[in-house]
Amino acid sequence: MDIGKLIYKKIKKYDTIVVARHVGPDPDAIASQIALRDAIRFTFPQKKVLAVGASVTKFKYFGTLDKENYENIENALLIILDVPTLDRVDGIEGLSYKEVIKLDHHPCDEKVADLEIVEDKASSACQIVAEFIFKTPMKMNEAIASNLFLGIVSDSDRFLLSYTTAKTFQIVSKLINDYQLDFAPLYNNLYERPINEIRFHGYLAEHLNLTENGLAYVKITPEILKEYGVDNGTPSNMINDFNYIKEVLAWIFVTYDESHEIFKVNIRSRGPIINETAEKYNGGGHKFASGARCKTESEINNLLKDLDKVCKNYKESLE
Ligand code: AMP
Repeated sequence: MDIGKLIYKKIKKYDTIVVARHVGPDPDAIASQIALRDAIRFTFPQKKVLAVGASVTKFKYFGTLDKENYENIENALLIILDVPTLDRVDGIEGLSYKEVIKLDHHPCDEKVADLEIVEDKASSACQIVAEFIFKTPMKMNEAIASNLFLGIVSDSDRFLLSYTTAKTFQIVSKLINDYQLDFAPLYNNLYERPINEIRFHGYLAEHLNLTENGLAYVKITPEILKEYGVDNGTPSNMINDFNYIKEVLAWIFVTYDESHEIFKVNIRSRGPIINETAEKYNGGGHKFASGARCKTESEINNLLKDLDKVCKNYKESLE
């Protein structure tokens, strides 16, 4: 039987379903999670369906997450979205679940769930969720379609990134057509920023270091974050803006997170494969969009050195 139908049957079978996604969520993670939760509730109003994990104020427009005491939950069906492995799932500590379903677009060699749809060449988790809903008797409405639309737009960086395919446009077209989405006003939620963030963007551009191999990086201290009045999640929202710089093959933001005493690293590329290097530094992700976590400045410097080498090898391979 088709995997989508098998997943639909599992959803139909369980009374309690918990929908989760990765820690440090981005719009695709939150949108796919809330869209799937709401689609299950809409299709099966009698079921208890929860979207769990830490709330992010700036993503409130997608909908609210559920705060529930897990002691009352037994034998739930757990659905994980936009995350390759269970260790990066947010908010499931202490949850008693019986089976796991995964819908994801990150590369992953191991099978981690009982049933899974893994399409590492899909633009976004929202694209996979939308396709799943369209191919099964699951129901959708305008609010769910809007969330899925925004998740796809965000994770494909407005259809710029290479995993944008004909299928992406077909799904987006169907969302817009079937639910009459007035999509231009939705962009306000995704793209409106306060002026201090624009000024911080200017700081990043001004302080980009560039190696002769085409690696660009900025180290962002807590003092700089304070000076510009931004939080340590802000650089993540800006990393994609530094694409298409002629001299840059791969680019990195290193942000020190004081409360967790860790360096958060965002890495992007427009050619060299970066996720294999990120994996060596407590990280991972996609071939051209990865992240890592380092404990010390010397680990950071090693990561920069390794990625510079990756850029050098890539450059030489083109000659
Ligand atoms: P970010 O730069 O945080 O937007 O992350 C880019 C991609 O890398 C996303 O697909 C993340 O899920 C993934 N990623 C970020 N940090 C990590 C990490 N520490 N471990 C594994 N994957 C990560």
